[in-house]
Amino acid sequence: MKKIITINPATGHELNEYESFSDEKVSKLISATQKRFSEWKRTSFSHRAELMNKAAKVLEDNKEEYAEMMTQEMGKTYKSAIGEVEKCAWVCRYYAENAAEFLKSEEVETEASKSKICYRPLGVVLAVMPWNYPLWQVFRFAAPALMAGNVGLLKHASNVPGCALIIEDVFRQAGFPENTFTTLIISSSQVEKVLDHSAVKAATLTGSGPAGSAVASSAGSKIKKTVLELGGSDPYIVLEDADIEWAAEQCKTSRLLNTGQSCIGAKRFVVVDEVYDEFLEKFKEKMALASVGDPMDDVDMGPMARIDLRDEVHDQVERSVKKGAKVILGGEIPNKPGAFYPATILTNVKPGNPAYEEEIFGPVATVIKAKDEEDAIRIANDTEFGLGACVFTKDLEKGERIAEEELNAGCCFVNQFVKSDPRLPFGGINASGYGRELSYYGIREFVNIKTVYVK
Ligand code: NAP
Repeated sequence: MKKIITINPATGHELNEYESFSDEKVSKLISATQKRFSEWKRTSFSHRAELMNKAAKVLEDNKEEYAEMMTQEMGKTYKSAIGEVEKCAWVCRYYAENAAEFLKSEEVETEASKSKICYRPLGVVLAVMPWNYPLWQVFRFAAPALMAGNVGLLKHASNVPGCALIIEDVFRQAGFPENTFTTLIISSSQVEKVLDHSAVKAATLTGSGPAGSAVASSAGSKIKKTVLELGGSDPYIVLEDADIEWAAEQCKTSRLLNTGQSCIGAKRFVVVDEVYDEFLEKFKEKMALASVGDPMDDVDMGPMARIDLRDEVHDQVERSVKKGAKVILGGEIPNKPGAFYPATILTNVKPGNPAYEEEIFGPVATVIKAKDEEDAIRIANDTEFGLGACVFTKDLEKGERIAEEELNAGCCFVNQFVKSDPRLPFGGINASGYGRELSYYGIREFVNIKTVYVK
């Protein structure tokens, strides 16, 4: 069978070897999962909640080990990896506490003696997940899906099989019965066969547009539901009345989050003329101070997740420069081993420039000058994506209006960088995907919203 070899992106050294599952093994596991579903769906919310709370405890008890695996496999800083494990425990507890309420049957008055809306699980749901938040992306799907009575299959990104196996083990240690949540070590070319299996009822994919399109097309041809959480090129608008110091700090933090590899990382900074120079100076100062180094140390940024991804980002920077962009910070591959890339700022970016049109999934900020508020909103919305957006202004009413009525994105924030929170729905529009995760919307994605009518 094909082997998957993992590599530490900070050093370039090999970490481990994993054997891919054969199609036969995958098929057997899907059947076992389907069998598990017939029992799991009949368990009570309180039983599921007890196990989900135990999963939170397992995560917390082993957070150092799990964080280290994330750091080794994809290079995020160890301190951010610890935070990620803690956030996974939070989402487990959140759904343990709220799932029963979110999925409570609702009676509706009609001519019937009784009519109601009920939420029933769909069955086996496949999750195809990316490497950037290797635990969080999976738990934000798994916690609501399992609490709703579904069972899960995971095809994780090929560079994080160690994390994928850890996740399966968290549920096992928490006491979930075997095959309630199953990791498949498979390549992306094997995903279609999994979707073909009659037991698999739906799929969720977090990742790039092409991967989303491939999985959704395949699922769609079999009339299976999908949720897609795809890329973004989130605009951050800085208006003339913003607290520039605060805005620059928030913009820097969001852009460098996870070494720039976050779907909801700030990517385009749209600054009105009046405060452009002041913002750029402060922003550059802060970006330049970001420390880069061994992700196990107390640094702001580790390496990017893989050498090829780093090279792709550098290629985007070079193509942008060829089309007129100016590099005012960074922009050069450091002369040392590992997939490192410095904090980089591009200016003089116009429509048609790669830095204007494409998602840059690395620590590269594109700062664009706008004439005024109206122009800034126009530029912010001039993108195929629609995941997150943010506006900085001291006028909170104006900020709220722009967030609510003007910005075309799923998560619009005022004076605070965009972040996910189990209590609030998360997801995008347009090329950023469809469907929602988290809050009560997330748990209702993979259920049969059933009408029951008794004459
Ligand atoms: P990716 O290359 O699309 O991979 C994501 C997952 O899809 C991996 O498990 C990958 O498996 C699988 N995959 C790729 N092509 C496939 C295909 N044709 N059929 C079936 N599965 C396929 O994305 P990535 O590089 O890991 O992640 C970066 C992208 O994800 C960025 O665009 C980012 O913005 C987006 N993202 C979005 C969110 C969100 O919530 N909206 C969150 C995080 C990331 P292999 O690894 O085996 O190829």
